[in-house]
Amino acid sequence: MIRYLACQNCRLHNNNLPLTNKKTTFTGNIESMNIHEYQGKEILKSFGVRIQEGIVAETPEQALDAAKRLKEEYNSDWVVVKAQIHAGGRGKGGGVKLAKNHDEVVQRATDIIGMQLVTPQTGPEGKKVNKVLVAQDVYYPGESETKEFYMSVLLDRASGRNMIMYSTEGGMDIEEVAEKTPHLIFKEEIDPKVGLQGFQARKIAFNLGLSGAAQKDMIKFVAALYKAYDAIDASMFEINPVLKTSDDKILAVDAKVNLDENALYRHADIAALRDLSEEDPTEVEAGKSNLNYVKLDGNVGCMVNGAGLAMATMDIIKLAGGEPANFLDVGGTANAETVKAGFNIILQDPNVKAILINIFGGIVRCDRVAQGVIDAYQEIGNIPVPIIVRLQGTNAEEAKKLIDGSGLKVYSAIALKEAADLVSEVLGG
Ligand code: GDP
Ligand code: MN
Repeated sequence: MIRYLACQNCRLHNNNLPLTNKKTTFTGNIESMNIHEYQGKEILKSFGVRIQEGIVAETPEQALDAAKRLKEEYNSDWVVVKAQIHAGGRGKGGGVKLAKNHDEVVQRATDIIGMQLVTPQTGPEGKKVNKVLVAQDVYYPGESETKEFYMSVLLDRASGRNMIMYSTEGGMDIEEVAEKTPHLIFKEEIDPKVGLQGFQARKIAFNLGLSGAAQKDMIKFVAALYKAYDAIDASMFEINPVLKTSDDKILAVDAKVNLDENALYRHADIAALRDLSEEDPTEVEAGKSNLNYVKLDGNVGCMVNGAGLAMATMDIIKLAGGEPANFLDVGGTANAETVKAGFNIILQDPNVKAILINIFGGIVRCDRVAQGVIDAYQEIGNIPVPIIVRLQGTNAEEAKKLIDGSGLKVYSAIALKEAADLVSEVLGG
């Protein structure tokens, strides 16, 4: 999924926090694929990262079966039932529940499967839960206290290097920690030439205040975690909490694993984990037509070739008194087919009051794009909103003539200023 948006508010730039909130805006070109907690944990485990063990279930019966197997294999009397959705903060929303006996397992699974789970990261509409992870309870009492830590691995854009970010303040909202007690967040930058060094893993364990067996286990944990991150071409790992159990084992209780989409071709097995039901349906449809589409909340749909031009176009829309309804980059091949697919996607948004098409004809000729717009318009039929087409570049004049002569309700412009004025005009401003 692509998110290029306003840069000023970008936490990733400002203080390098990982993007835990889907609605957060940032700039750049991060295309990353999200997977479920249970899938992320399986990957981590395959690299030797200790995890809170669990079994995925789609029905209360399967959940009960899972709890019985966890008892056999790991001797866990209690289990936690965890909603599997592509959003964090599930605990806060009631999507993570402890079950102390078989009846409670069935009860919790019945409650959670099928629920519309609202968390601070889902938006008010929430997300439907189709699966739960039945996991061993790892907060059992014992010799020492349990402790929750925070750990993520991500690219630090400032240094252009991967880093491990970690904190003694685990289990809670890391953004809040960053705001109120930033000195409790540590960063360890990794030199790509040599990878994570032993002394760095030791320093992390030390800074987390660990000693003895827990310290040793943390060193192993960090090393395995980084190895996994590197090997699968991840774009981010966020493990919150990393737990020190009462018997001094270090393990991942949660796992947010994001993959770099540009590298997915190297990991067919991981690419197959994609769960399209978790993604915005319009964005999925756009992806099938090779369009980069991100839905926004405004009233002017836009269709542009190139991400930079799309950003500029969104600014122009704002300047003209509108708000962009979407980000849509049709890429280098703006033809009748892509234009039509773009129209269809934009028109699914009931908030759209006007559409601005802004294409720079470099390799693609403007007159061909214009013909594409006209063909798409005629094929779709009655498009209920005004369309402003701004074509600049090769054969721009011919393109304008084609549009103006088409008899369709399409306004043409060559200069960006003209296009902006037309947007104002059709919005009645
Ligand atoms: P998130 O809310 O989506 O981040 O989901 P997490 O997997 O991080 O779980 C949320 C919270 O549930 C954790 O911070 C723990 O406090 C709690 N939790 C998770 N696993 C267990 C467990 O095995 N036993 C108990 N008692 N609590 C757990
Ligand atoms: Mn968590």
